[in-house]
Order: sequence, then C-alpha cells, then structure tokens
Amino acid sequence: MSSNLNFTEEGFSNIVIRNEKNIVQLRTNAFDDDEALRWKEVFTARNSTTYNAARLYHGVRYRFHEKFICLHGDNRHKGVKKTYTGCSVKMDIKIKLITKNTIRIDKDVRTHPCIITIEGTHNHPAEAASALQELRIPTATTDTFFKYFDLGMTVPQAIRFHQEKLNFNLSDLANAAVNPKSRSVYYMREKWLKTIMEH
Ligand SMILES: [Zn+2]
Repeated sequence: MSSNLNFTEEGFSNIVIRNEKNIVQLRTNAFDDDEALRWKEVFTARNSTTYNAARLYHGVRYRFHEKFICLHGDNRHKGVKKTYTGCSVKMDIKIKLITKNTIRIDKDVRTHPCIITIEGTHNHPAEAASALQELRIPTATTDTFFKYFDLGMTVPQAIRFHQEKLNFNLSDLANAAVNPKSRSVYYMREKWLKTIMEH
C-alpha cells in the first residue's frame, strides 16, 4: 500500500509506526469518534479506497474501537453487488483512554491517543477515476468547492461555509448533490490539490 500519510493540511499529525506494502500503522491526534472517522475519510480519499464498518466494540478499555473492511471484501455485498472481490484489507481504529495509568505506560497517549492499523493488500484497482462520478456530484457543485479551496478554506470550513451560504431548507440539506457529504468534499479536495500541482 505504502501511503502518503502527511495529513497536516487536514489538521492531523500522524506519527507513522509502520508504512509497508502489507501494513500501515500509525497514531494520530484524534480524540473522539467524530475525529477518528474524519481521519478515515481523509485516508480513503487519499488512497481512493472505501471501507465499510464491520464491527463496533462497546467496552471500557478504549474510548472508541471500530473495525472496517474494504468495500470489496464486504461479503454482505456478495452476489448482491458486483463490488465483492474477496479483498482482505482491514482497518482497525482505536482511541485509547487518557488516564494516569495509560499515560504512565505510553506518554504519547496525551497527544496521539488514536491508533490505526490497516492490514492487507487490495486485490483490485483503486477507485480514483470514477470516485467522483459514483458519488454523483454535479460539476457546478465541484466548481463551487474549488472556489472555496482557492480562497484558502479547509474541508470542514468549506462545508460549514457552503451550508451557511445556501441557508438550506431541509430537502436541500438531505440532497447530496447540493450539499455533498464530507467524504465527497475530501475527494474534491484531492482533485483540487492535483489541479494546483499541475499548474
Ligand atoms: Zn480492497
């Protein structure tokens, strides 16, 4: 896999533990499930992969613990959708508790409590080319977001600004084409970054 794991732009400070073909392991400054899931969106946009929730753990050992599998390994889609390829890539996200005890064992838990492991090799190509199409975002919406990025907005800022500016009614808010999901906005951001680098 060997990924670009610099997420500074998105507000994450990743400490890479391993970045090999078969395993990526790192810790990051995500302190709750919202932040951890936002990290996952940045990672999936960067790598043009999609992960489905596989198991959410409810326990006292971790602040948050959830496992995900590659969309193409999700056998709930086997036979139903054509996406199933038997891919075995898994993602595990844990947020450690920040307590006297955990700090004593691991001082980085104060600043980087979230531990992420992605294991395996995809047995199918990435989804980059069609990702935006699949998400069905109209060009006009993409252009609007490109303008926000030109103005220097980050993804969360652009989403907030967009929602405030349009002063949506409820049906607009639920319409992903007008009010794209943050995952789509991260894809747009990746696309925007590429166009900048080309010019
Ligand atoms: Zn896969």
